[in-house]
Amino acid sequence: MNSCILKVIAVFFLAGICFPYLAKAEAKSRYVTLHYNGRDMLREFNDNIDLGHKLGYLIKKKNIVTVEDEVLVKLDAIMEKAEVVLDMFPKDLHIKVVILPTSDEVSQVFSQKYGKKANHIAYYSLSEDTVYISVEDTKLAVIAHEFGHAIVDHYFSDRPPYTIHELMAQFAEKHITD
Ligand SMILES: [Zn+2]
Repeated sequence: MNSCILKVIAVFFLAGICFPYLAKAEAKSRYVTLHYNGRDMLREFNDNIDLGHKLGYLIKKKNIVTVEDEVLVKLDAIMEKAEVVLDMFPKDLHIKVVILPTSDEVSQVFSQKYGKKANHIAYYSLSEDTVYISVEDTKLAVIAHEFGHAIVDHYFSDRPPYTIHELMAQFAEKHITD
C-alpha cells in the first residue's frame, strides 16, 4: 500500500472522528438530494418544518408514507413556491441539502471549508451547490431563504453582487407564506 492511499484512509478516518454527525443516509426528490444522519434527526427536521396553511394544503394530496417522503415533499413544495415568489425558474435545478444537529456543526463545517469563523444556523455554499442547515434551528423561513440563494445562483449566468443575492434570498423568505 503506498503512502497516498494511507493518507486518504487517514483523512476519512479522521473525518469520521471529527464529524461524526455527517450524513450517513441520502434521499432524492425532484429538487434536492438530502443528506442526513439517523431517523431522530430526520424526524426533528420534519417536525420543525411547518409549511403553514397554503403550502401545507398543496402537499395534502401527495403520497406520503414515511418521514423521509414527507420531508422531501415539503422541501420540493418550498422550492417551487420560492421559484414562484422570485419568478425565476432555472432549468434542471437540483441541489444538495445537508442537515446537521445544531448551529455549532454548521459553523464548524463553514470554518473548516472557508478557514474563517462564523456563526451560522444555515448557509448555501455556492461552490458546492449545497445548503447546510441546523436541524435545531430549522423553520420554513430559513429554508426559503437558503433555497432563494440556490434559485438565484442557478438563474443568473453572471452572479449578481452579494447584496443583491442576499436581498433576493430575503425576498423569498419574506413571501414564502403569501
Ligand atoms: Zn442569505
